[in-house]
Amino acid sequence: MDRKLAEAAALLSRSSRAYAFTGAGVSTESGIPDFRSPGTGLWSNPKLLSLATGDALQREPARFYNVFLPQWLAYRQAVPNPAHKAIAGLEAIGRLSGVVTQNIDGLHRKAGSQVVWEVHGHLRHLVCSSCQRPASFAVAEEALQKGALPPRCRCGGVVRPDVVLFGEAMAPDFDRALTVLRQGCELMLIVGSSLAVYPAASLVRFADALIIVNRDPTPYDDQAVVLRGSAGEIVPELLKSVVGSR
Ligand code: NAD
Repeated sequence: MDRKLAEAAALLSRSSRAYAFTGAGVSTESGIPDFRSPGTGLWSNPKLLSLATGDALQREPARFYNVFLPQWLAYRQAVPNPAHKAIAGLEAIGRLSGVVTQNIDGLHRKAGSQVVWEVHGHLRHLVCSSCQRPASFAVAEEALQKGALPPRCRCGGVVRPDVVLFGEAMAPDFDRALTVLRQGCELMLIVGSSLAVYPAASLVRFADALIIVNRDPTPYDDQAVVLRGSAGEIVPELLKSVVGSR
């Protein structure tokens, strides 16, 4: 691991256009379960998978909210862990130019990352699915307490999270990230992603070199410097090593 860590730190130290790409695994140490970790991932429950779609939200909005709202409220309470902070640290010292995240938990911004593309949306507010007017999460919490889910806008439309559900178009940040990465990406530091969710994972192909920090194998491991283990331990080590080599 020491040799791989040194190799990864050297790559980060010499790459002038490097970006982080993160998935649910960067946030498990903040108490948010991912989708695909064996046993603990949310998709171990097939009912959840079939409900996380735009169709399910339209067809059964009350059921959709009863299942997912408590999760999102927990995401909103979560705090960044050492991996989020180290990614923000790498940006602060000029070794990362931004972070592309699949996560909706907002923890990169909370950790201090300045340039963040949230390609699957975020949970900072809700939005009416009819008139597009933004709404606060308080509206949903109130509806939950009153047993009156789904929350509704004053126009009568169902209010929904500003996130990308299965079967829906990507968030506008996806195109923004695509544009930037097409201009050149010498290195991508991938943290906590199975790289199995498309089109998000397709962004990895724009990088000239890859570092992967992940507990489980990914389809891109043979093209990367792989650091296997906990993101909350490894990414701070990486930051320390880059700082130490300056
Ligand atoms: P995924 O669940 O498919 O894969 C997560 C990967 O992270 C796994 O390969 C696992 O081995 C690894 N991992 C888990 N904990 C780790 C840790 N502490 N250190 C290192 N590696 C760890 O997640 P994905 O690739 O992001 O794709 C699934 C979708 O999950 C994304 O679209 C994302 O929107 C959504 N999601 C987001 C959140 C969130 O916002 N925090 C939570 C659950 C799911």
